[in-house]
Amino acid sequence: MKKATAGWVCSELDDEYGELVWRSHGEPLDALVQTILSQATSDINSGRAFDSLRRAFPGGWDTVRLAEEKAIADAIRCGGLADSKAPRIKAVLQEIYERTGKTDLEFLKTTPTDEAKAFLTSFHGVGPKTAACVLMFSLGRPVLPVDTHVFRVSHRLGLIDEKLGEARAHGALQSQLKDTEVYAYHVHLIRHGRRVCVAQQPRCEECVLGARCAYRREGGKMSRRSLAQNLPGTLHGLKEKQGEGSN
Ligand code: SF4
Repeated sequence: MKKATAGWVCSELDDEYGELVWRSHGEPLDALVQTILSQATSDINSGRAFDSLRRAFPGGWDTVRLAEEKAIADAIRCGGLADSKAPRIKAVLQEIYERTGKTDLEFLKTTPTDEAKAFLTSFHGVGPKTAACVLMFSLGRPVLPVDTHVFRVSHRLGLIDEKLGEARAHGALQSQLKDTEVYAYHVHLIRHGRRVCVAQQPRCEECVLGARCAYRREGGKMSRRSLAQNLPGTLHGLKEKQGEGSN
């Protein structure tokens, strides 16, 4: 049985779910706030919370920055964890203002990707996943966010070692993708992880990736050791170099 590669996975899932074309998911600061709101809740709930926040503060992000935490929390209550997310949003907005003199991230549109990533992850509470979401969804940069679905499916396919953890998996997976594949890989794997390669009992018998899947090859009993044997060569070096914190 051939081993899966990230490019092959993209191609198979393009056929299965249709080719994807990137479109901006909004301004970079909108994407940053949306990503904070999306943590530990569903897309529907975080979308509602974001819309509610914008309605409550029609004056824009500067008015959110200057608002009482309670007013922000009340506006995002429908998204869950409002009392912990509200101070985080306010603190990030304040820090952006203090460091740039504005409450926006427009300048990231013309900032080189590595510099933009370093800027975003320098904020307290903004890890590689949040930064990647802003860079990829808002600006179309080839920076891969690795969430629980992307991590689980990639691991089962044998593309990353479970021991890497989600934080270091960003660089490890990114190194296996062409820039033009990053967006599709992320979106396809989330869809596939929700529909087919679900957490508890993956539906391998109906999966288009089964022909090259390490998990399936091992009969659903992949050990960490057997996974390591399936790792592409580039990962061995990356495992030592990647040291990013998590969100
Ligand atoms: S064959 Fe099974 S484990 Fe492998 S990707 Fe498909 S559903 Fe997941």
